[in-house]
Amino acid sequence: MSKTGRQRYNLKDLTRNEMVAVLAGMGKERFRADQIIAWLYRHRVDNLAEMTNLSRVFRQQLEEVATVQSLTCQATETAADGTKKFLFRLFDDSCVETVLIPEPKRLTLCLSTQVGCRQGCRFCVTGRQGFHRNLKVGEIVDQVVQVQKHVDREQRRISNIVFMGMGEPLDNLDVLVKAIEILKYDDGLQFSSRRITVSTCGLVPGMEKLGALVDVCLAISLNATEDETRSRLMPINRRYNLKTLLSACRRFPLKRRSRITFEYILLKDLNDRLADAVRLVKLLKPLKSKINLIPFNEHPDLPYQRPTDEQISAFQAILLDSGMTSIIRKSKGADISAACGQLRGKVLADGK
Ligand code: SF4
Repeated sequence: MSKTGRQRYNLKDLTRNEMVAVLAGMGKERFRADQIIAWLYRHRVDNLAEMTNLSRVFRQQLEEVATVQSLTCQATETAADGTKKFLFRLFDDSCVETVLIPEPKRLTLCLSTQVGCRQGCRFCVTGRQGFHRNLKVGEIVDQVVQVQKHVDREQRRISNIVFMGMGEPLDNLDVLVKAIEILKYDDGLQFSSRRITVSTCGLVPGMEKLGALVDVCLAISLNATEDETRSRLMPINRRYNLKTLLSACRRFPLKRRSRITFEYILLKDLNDRLADAVRLVKLLKPLKSKINLIPFNEHPDLPYQRPTDEQISAFQAILLDSGMTSIIRKSKGADISAACGQLRGKVLADGK
């Protein structure tokens, strides 16, 4: 609260136009918003006092209506393969996880959009924790700012953003769209559309709105080739079945040469049979698609198992032989709390 008792804006919650409107209410010019955006996202400062090209008087006026809130890193874990998991404490003391995945040619950051998730996918630790609340715009964007500050020290740059962390991004669509807009600012973090991927469990109306509102890459968490199995694993399938989902995929506005990524978690004896691979080819062949096979990362609270390496290779061979693009994604950070929601669960259990 400000000295006048009014609720103050967190500047990181505001898009450029929203910031311009707040500043216009103070009688300030449009370019002031550009200056603040550069301080927040290019110089990555955490308070108004560091915005030294704004006069002291202006900063004092700004402080009456706005603040700069930053996430606090509560814990980190680093895996042998370099995958690093950050547990961030939010402004109301809830926690979310953000995962940094180094690969030879990219540095990918996996963002959370909700505390918990209401979709209840059976193979997901976050799904078991239930839904707590949506993240705000600033809480999403600041995951990128804080991790980029961390890698700034090593003179590295996050190259790709994936919305695949805790929560279903399309369940928090308006906030997601604003966060993506901010991540793309030329005078800020400068992520291009082809470097941002939104992954959904299949919220069809949200996919349609997303495609109409922003230009991003789309990933679908598919995980089954028949409605019965998919509904068992992912309750969302009872609302939007495979036929409805794949027809929404066909309508999604894709750029030339881009494809939809289908994520397929391989679960032993559930969706890893060769007949599943054959059906997967039939379902996805008509689409511009690529398939990421993800062998399940076993967890004591979840009743599923990872298929054998032979089964995984045989499954992939069917996809490749039919001309599909498919890679086996190693479970990144398999030696840390790698499934989404695990580090959060562990730290909360430790009472930290
Ligand atoms: Fe939610 Fe994604 Fe987990 Fe499903 S897999 S419960 S959509 S976080």
